[in-house]
Amino acid sequence: MRVLRPRFLLLCALTLWALLLPPSAVAATLELSGDLQPGMAVLLTVKGFPQGARLSGSLDRQPFPITPQGQAVVALDMEKQPEQVTLQVVVTPTGAPAETLTRTLTISKRAYKEERIDLPKKKVDLDQPDMTRATRETETIAAALKVREGRIGFERGFRQPVAGRFSGVFGSRRVLNGQPRKRHNGVDIAAAAGTPVTTIAPGTVVLAGRDYFFTGNTLVVHHGHGVVSLYAHLERLQVKEGDWVEAGATLGTVGMTGRATGPHLHWGVLVRGERVDPMGLPGIRH
Ligand SMILES: [Zn+2]
Repeated sequence: MRVLRPRFLLLCALTLWALLLPPSAVAATLELSGDLQPGMAVLLTVKGFPQGARLSGSLDRQPFPITPQGQAVVALDMEKQPEQVTLQVVVTPTGAPAETLTRTLTISKRAYKEERIDLPKKKVDLDQPDMTRATRETETIAAALKVREGRIGFERGFRQPVAGRFSGVFGSRRVLNGQPRKRHNGVDIAAAAGTPVTTIAPGTVVLAGRDYFFTGNTLVVHHGHGVVSLYAHLERLQVKEGDWVEAGATLGTVGMTGRATGPHLHWGVLVRGERVDPMGLPGIRH
């Protein structure tokens, strides 16, 4: 009987190992930049997928897009408090069967504060002309926040648009002149009037609104895939609709236009309509 050479044995072992692997195994993995919580957005990175593969995702069966490089922003609205959500990514390599990657995420509860604010009566109980105007402006903003198509600018994370004192927290129940109103869907940063406000990430200016009743001079920037940032009460606007802004570009200056009690920036972020805490965005230090 012939003695089998070690090299031959190694080859046999490798062949056997290859045969034991499922035929369509995609060695892709999912990486999240942080914990997904109510009112939070995280960056999802799909790694190790075959080049040219098609990628699609869903969070609790709600589809979301993924860039060809494997990046996406996933978010949970401030009012959603599920115990668990299922994150799924389908990787479809060219000419091979699709593979589904599934991750079950446990969501912790989030409690919000209450904030009492007193404002001039005319600014809270609107007369008919102010009401008509404010409704029209709110609709214009809502339309701008619905943008989904366009150039991607979120891959490198986000930056705080202005430094200052936090004068209004995210998610607090607002009580205006004793009347309960909806939750504060952004943060307020108090800073001196005229301080430059920079974009939180590269993006396309989709709204440059002037002198709105509530939000004053207002900008909405789209960072791709329905990730939008809103900047309100600005003193000056230094960009116009359709402009592409690079990372760190100045958008305008801090002011107190619209319904504001002092110079500050109201900064809001939505991810495909889900209201998230701007200070919880990937890349923002606090
Ligand atoms: Zn605010």
